[in-house]
Amino acid sequence: MADDRPAPPGAALHEKTATQGQTAAPPPTPAYLWHNGRLVPWQDATVHITQIGWTAISAVFEGIRGYWSNERQDLYLFRLDEHLKRLARSMKLMRMAPAVSAADLTSAMLDLLRANEFREDVYVQPLVYFAGGVPGYRAAYTQPTEVLITARPAPSALKTGRASHCCISSWVRLADHVMPPRAKALANYQNSRLVSTEARINGYDGGIMLNERGKVAEGAYACIFLVRDGVAVTPPATAGILESITRASLLEALPQVLGVPVEVREVDRTELYLADEVFLCGTLAEIDPVVSVDRYSVGTGEPGTVTRRLEDLYHGLVRGTDPRYPAWRIPVYHDA
Ligand code: PMP
Repeated sequence: MADDRPAPPGAALHEKTATQGQTAAPPPTPAYLWHNGRLVPWQDATVHITQIGWTAISAVFEGIRGYWSNERQDLYLFRLDEHLKRLARSMKLMRMAPAVSAADLTSAMLDLLRANEFREDVYVQPLVYFAGGVPGYRAAYTQPTEVLITARPAPSALKTGRASHCCISSWVRLADHVMPPRAKALANYQNSRLVSTEARINGYDGGIMLNERGKVAEGAYACIFLVRDGVAVTPPATAGILESITRASLLEALPQVLGVPVEVREVDRTELYLADEVFLCGTLAEIDPVVSVDRYSVGTGEPGTVTRRLEDLYHGLVRGTDPRYPAWRIPVYHDA
């Protein structure tokens, strides 16, 4: 059957480079996204070219993972309620009026995932922005907001044996009095992008940011823990971090399930060099073992015992094969 849908953005570029054998095929786009109260065919959701950038400057968003369970034939959204609460906090900081209630956002996400018939791991991204293409540098607080939700396949990297070599970035984490890092605002990701790009150019997998006080803040897209003498340590919410939902989950599960004591306190750069274990954590990053920092081996230079046990635990919790913390999982296809 002829496919008369318009080519996805970037398709022409892709074809050119693919014939040179340089890129893999772009993933197919899902059938639907959700925009302002309704499911819209992916290809029909377009905006005028002049809107590029301006809408994004003030936008806030969330990133939520859904994990497919073969055993249960269901998809589980991890800690959806917490993500929606953080979205509301980000909107409040940006002086955005709620466009849609948390209950309606939940229904919207479930409708979207069901309409796309996902039977695989996914990443769901609600994005809230000021309507009408308000130029981003102007005061904006009375304008109505709009909501876009996308969901795409995003295979988990848990238990695939990955490990990261990181550097301390020369870029400093955004300060609360500059652009508040506790808001999950699109514009904040310029900071993350500079960090990741610098790290990759210099031969590392990722970068870790210090804050304006010179203390450890977080990774480009993830929070950080170190383990020393059996205690897991992570910087506090006032260190310039995004208030990570994965970090909060681990602060509960590490002591309660694995019997690993946790400490929330300021962390020096050199503590990372001397740690027995370091790992990053986040919705997309999941549990990412860090095996060197600035080419100092962390511990043995292999992912450590606590990190491995945690990765196993997290894998079970997000997919529901471990029944603990049932409230953390929202099933998409069956009732809870
Ligand atoms: N810090 C930053 C800058 C992030 O982008 C993320 C990913 N959302 C995190 C930390 C981890 O947060 P969460 O566990 O809520 O995904």
